[in-house]
Amino acid sequence: MTEQIYSTQAYTREMDAAVVGTDREDNRVLLDRTVFYPGGGGQPHDTGALWIGDDRLEVVRVTADRDGVWHWVDGALPTTGSALRGELDWDRRYKMMRTHTAMHAMCGVIWRAYQVPVTGGNMEAGEGRLDFELPDWNSEDKPGVEAELNAQLATQLPVEVSFLPREEADRDPSLIRTKVSLLPAGLREIRVIDIVGLDRQADGGTHVDSTGEVGSISLATVKSKGRGFRRFRFTLNE
Ligand SMILES: [Zn+2]
Repeated sequence: MTEQIYSTQAYTREMDAAVVGTDREDNRVLLDRTVFYPGGGGQPHDTGALWIGDDRLEVVRVTADRDGVWHWVDGALPTTGSALRGELDWDRRYKMMRTHTAMHAMCGVIWRAYQVPVTGGNMEAGEGRLDFELPDWNSEDKPGVEAELNAQLATQLPVEVSFLPREEADRDPSLIRTKVSLLPAGLREIRVIDIVGLDRQADGGTHVDSTGEVGSISLATVKSKGRGFRRFRFTLNE
């Protein structure tokens, strides 16, 4: 398995690593350790480059499977055993971290106001989309939700990463509401992201250390998706 540096050190943007496997068909390499997030939980995979000496290989896709984290590259595959250096497209990744943390903060704000869980979400760097089952929504609520979210972000709440045994996570009401029960049964340890005092959920993605780093957001649209479902779209303000 690949050591997942991104899981505990979101701000590490480079790593030294060794190639532990290659796949010629898909032109990808398996590394012993990586800072590249393979995607999941609504957060797209990272991009960046692998350097072997002065040779630069563009990382065009990152995926994970039971063997570890695969780096799909544009260019000649290095051989197993090669030493290399990996470097993220940090501007893009950091924006993902800010966007992802804003999404969790919005889950917390909606939970407080309406006691409904998030049902889905997706993001690009600087743009988030979240779905809630929210039959009681009134379009006049939009400015208030946006203002409350920005007020919460501005209080610079700490964002903490922890790991819980599965049994403990299954008993935690705040995690059950974000559907820890939907995680694979075989997962023995649950990674938890806690925006202290606002939102706590099982999550694999990368986040900033404080909501203050998110800055503020604009709630662009709230659209009905039928049967009481609402789709919220927001953008980060620069
Ligand atoms: Zn998340």
